[in-house]
Amino acid sequence: MSAVYFHAAAVLDRVLARRGSVKHLVLSNKIAENKKKLYALVCQTLKHYSLLQKIMSAAAFLQEEPSLSTNIAAVVLYDFLFGRGLRCGGKLKAAVYRQKDCLRTAMEQLKGSEEERKTDVRLPRYVRVNTLKTTWDDAVGHFQQRKWTLSENESQSSGRCFRQDNHVPHLMVFPTGTDLHDDPMYVSGQVILQDKASCLSAFLLSPPPGSNVIDACAAPGNKTSHLASLMKNKGSIFAFDIDGSRLETMRELMVRAGATCCKMKRANFLRIKPEDYKDVEYILVDPSCSGSGIVSHVERTIEKGETPQWRIEKLAQFQLSVLLHALRFPSARRVVYSTCSIHKEENEEVVKKALKSNPNFTLVHALPEWPRRGLPLFSTAEYCVRTSTEDETQGFFVAVFERKTTEPKIALKVKTRQKTKQRKHRSVVD
Ligand code: SAM
Repeated sequence: MSAVYFHAAAVLDRVLARRGSVKHLVLSNKIAENKKKLYALVCQTLKHYSLLQKIMSAAAFLQEEPSLSTNIAAVVLYDFLFGRGLRCGGKLKAAVYRQKDCLRTAMEQLKGSEEERKTDVRLPRYVRVNTLKTTWDDAVGHFQQRKWTLSENESQSSGRCFRQDNHVPHLMVFPTGTDLHDDPMYVSGQVILQDKASCLSAFLLSPPPGSNVIDACAAPGNKTSHLASLMKNKGSIFAFDIDGSRLETMRELMVRAGATCCKMKRANFLRIKPEDYKDVEYILVDPSCSGSGIVSHVERTIEKGETPQWRIEKLAQFQLSVLLHALRFPSARRVVYSTCSIHKEENEEVVKKALKSNPNFTLVHALPEWPRRGLPLFSTAEYCVRTSTEDETQGFFVAVFERKTTEPKIALKVKTRQKTKQRKHRSVVD
C-alpha cells in the first residue's frame, strides 16, 4: 500500500528539480498501478507543499524521523492531515503516529495564515459531458441527485451550483476546487474533466459524423475523444503520437470514453505520408508547446518558470513544421492549430508563416463573439482566438485554417449558447 507514496515522492523529486511536469512524469511511470490516484496525490501534495513544509518544520518532524526524505514525508503527511488518512502501515505509519499530536497542533496553528496568504489564480472546474456515453440531461440529473443545482444564471457556479458554459456545448462549469475524480460519471467516462480552452480545438474543427480526421499529436487524447463525440463515433480518426507511453495512456482513456472510431498509432506525424491519407479532410494540430498558458493552481508555482527563448524558438520551428505538414494533405479542407502557450512565437508567428507559404489556405474567423483575439501581427490575426485566466480558463491559442475554394465558400458558423434549453451546436455550411 505504501508504494503509492514512494512513487509520488519520486515524481515530486523530479518535478521540484524541474525535470518534467507532473502529468508527464506520472504518465511515464510504468510501475504505478493507479496513475489517477498517483496524479491526484502529487497534485494535492504540491498544492499544500509550502504549508506541509512549515508543519514539518514546526513539529521538527524530519529531525525526529531522520530516515524519511522530505518528499516522502510530504506525501504521507498530506494524506494524514488533509487527505483520506494514511494508506500504509509499517515504518511510515509508525513515524507519523509517533508525532501525530505535534503535527496536528502545528497544522491547526499554521493553516489559517496559509489560507490568507494564497493569491493563486483559481479557475472553475470544467466538466465535458461525453455524449458517446450519456446525454446532457442524464448528466444534469446525475449531479442534481447529488445535491447540485443547475443555475440558469450565466455567471453563477458557486456553492452547490453549476451551470452550462456559454460557448462550448455540453460543457458544465462547476465552482473552483470541485473534486469529481471519484464521481461515478467520471470514473465510467461519461464525463471528462477538461478545461474550457482545451475544448475549443475539437469544437472549432467540428468534423461532421462520417468524416476522416487526423489528430496529429494526439496523446493523451482529450481532444481526440471530444472529436469522436462530435462525430458520434462515425467515420475515422487517425490519431498519431510519437510517445509510446503517452499513447498507452491514451488507449486506456479512449476505451473509457467509448471512442471507438479512433485508430491510434505510435508515429512521428512528420513522417506520415499525405498520399496515404487521401480522404482526410479535417486535421487537428495540437503539438508540444511551452505550456506557458497553463496556470493550474497546482502546478503553477512549481513548474511555470520562464521558458528560455532558445527553447521557445525551437518549439516554434517544430510547431511550424507540423502545421505545414498538415496543410500538405491533399484533401485537407479544415485544419485547426492550437497550443496552450501564450508566446506569440508559438502562436501568431507560426500561423503567419504557414499562411505565407500556403496561399491556398485562409483563416476562418473563429468564435467571432469571443473578445480576446490574436495579436495583430498580420492582417487576419484577429480571426485567431486567444484565451487567458481573465476568461476563467487557461491561456490558449487557436487558429482555424480552411482551404480556399472556387466553389461556394465553406463557412464555419459556431453558435454560442442560446437562452433556450435546446441548443444547436454548430453548423458547417458548404
Ligand atoms: N492533443 C493532446 C490532448 O488534447 O490530449 C495533447 C497533445 S500534447 C500538447 C502534444 C503531443 O505531441 C505530445 O503527446 C507529444 O508526445 C506529441 N508529439 C511530439 N512530437 C510529435 C511528433 N513529431 N509526431 C507526433 N506526435 C508528437
